[in-house]
Amino acid sequence: MSRLLSSRWLKRCLALVLGLVLGVGAAQLTGLAQDPPAVWEVGTEPAFPPFEMKDEATGELIGFDIELMTAMGEAAGREVKFIALPFDGLIPALQSNTISAAISGMTITAERAQTIDFSRPYFEAGLAIAVQESNSDIQSLADLAGKRIAVQIGTTGAEQAGEVEGATVSTFDSAPLALQELLNGRVDAVVNDLPATLFAINDANIQGIKIVGELVTEEYYGIALPKNSADLAAMNTAIDTLLQDGTYAEIYRRWFSADPPELPLVAPALADATTATGLNWGRLFQNLMRGAWVTIWLTAASFFFGLIGGSLVAFAMISPIKPLRLLCRIYVDFFRGTPMLVQLFMIYFGLPALFQSMGLDISFNRIFAAIFALSLNVAAYLAEILRGGIQSIDRGQWEAGESLAMNPVETMRYVIFPQAFRRILPPLGNEFITLIKDTSLAAVIGFEELFRQGQLTVATTYRAFEVYLAVAIVYLVMTSLASFAFKRLEAYMDPINRPKKAPKEPLPSAVEV
Ligand code: GLN
Repeated sequence: MSRLLSSRWLKRCLALVLGLVLGVGAAQLTGLAQDPPAVWEVGTEPAFPPFEMKDEATGELIGFDIELMTAMGEAAGREVKFIALPFDGLIPALQSNTISAAISGMTITAERAQTIDFSRPYFEAGLAIAVQESNSDIQSLADLAGKRIAVQIGTTGAEQAGEVEGATVSTFDSAPLALQELLNGRVDAVVNDLPATLFAINDANIQGIKIVGELVTEEYYGIALPKNSADLAAMNTAIDTLLQDGTYAEIYRRWFSADPPELPLVAPALADATTATGLNWGRLFQNLMRGAWVTIWLTAASFFFGLIGGSLVAFAMISPIKPLRLLCRIYVDFFRGTPMLVQLFMIYFGLPALFQSMGLDISFNRIFAAIFALSLNVAAYLAEILRGGIQSIDRGQWEAGESLAMNPVETMRYVIFPQAFRRILPPLGNEFITLIKDTSLAAVIGFEELFRQGQLTVATTYRAFEVYLAVAIVYLVMTSLASFAFKRLEAYMDPINRPKKAPKEPLPSAVEV
């Protein structure tokens, strides 16, 4: 009876919670549809100069888009609040209505227009190809066949590069990182919007790069809004007002030192009847498996080298040589005390740039950099785990080894290490699982591991929830398998509870002995 009651109560409580959630959700949705909020929450990726960037001195958002949007807000009597988001996260944020609009040098394309709405065009742009100054064999998109190209994820540049035959495309989170890749000599070209590349070369003073094939495409930027947003009309009217009263021209001249061109009312790209690439589950599965494979070998290689490095450091940390101990302490504290992301950027982008400024032409390849950075990081953690494990073994065990006439190396090998190993297995397993997840950071240097494969699919299908859920499930399967394997190993290493094998031959009897 009491069980029945409690299950009925449970059901009632669940129904109540569900009702509340649905009620609040519905109220929010109807609220959104009826009266548009007085504040425009506008998403932008502030790493696309001169359209949106952070002022070095004040840390404030500045740029052509920022000024235009602020002026639009004034014209429409709305307050504008900017929200920084990654470029490939803008469309998913619009789809989920978490922002009211996005201004981020976003090209109006027929594919995007199927999931979101665009304002009238507010800027004329197009793609350009950037190469190193010494390069003379790339002049046009056709010359890029078979070459290595760096692009920004989810952009029209990425789409164009993907269509070039035989080209190897690496994707980065922002345009400046793609340009850095070109500067470091790891790719032959960058395909990106002309005004942004021009700005990087002229104003940000990036040297050693030139532009070939200016405006290889014709593109128009538009302000992106959720589908059927009630703000669309107000935004279009605001752009019209600024175009007519000269504010637009004034902002344009300030940023581009030229007179603005005439803008069409509708972007020509919208005349194409292209359909958006829907989510193909079979292809998603294939891509995720390809990414999972990269994640697995990246984890295995980094753990292997990390274990070797970590053991060396652990032994050095318990050695009697004081300067060596100090050096290892600094190493461990540095790698445990700084974010892995910073270490990855330092090694991949920072070191080659430093070498180049010293006149040395050294640059790492992506695989080396990722494994190197991950191994250095994991070795620091493993060193501490191993050191702790070894030092936790009772002193008496050393004495026992000595009394059996073992030298210190033998005592370590036969007495101390087997016992320490059992103690360090659980934290070792934790470290391995953390490493599986941390390899996703290699995505920032263009590594197409599991997470990046998901990002790339979202960038063309705009189905963020399903894709990231699938990515999470694959990670979960991998970490669960790893945790299971470590549990088995722990059981195997336990001499008391180890699953016993039946002895093959009968034990010699006491009499025979
Ligand atoms: N105009 C390009 C696009 O829409 C790139 C924009 C950006 O990187 N901010 O894809």
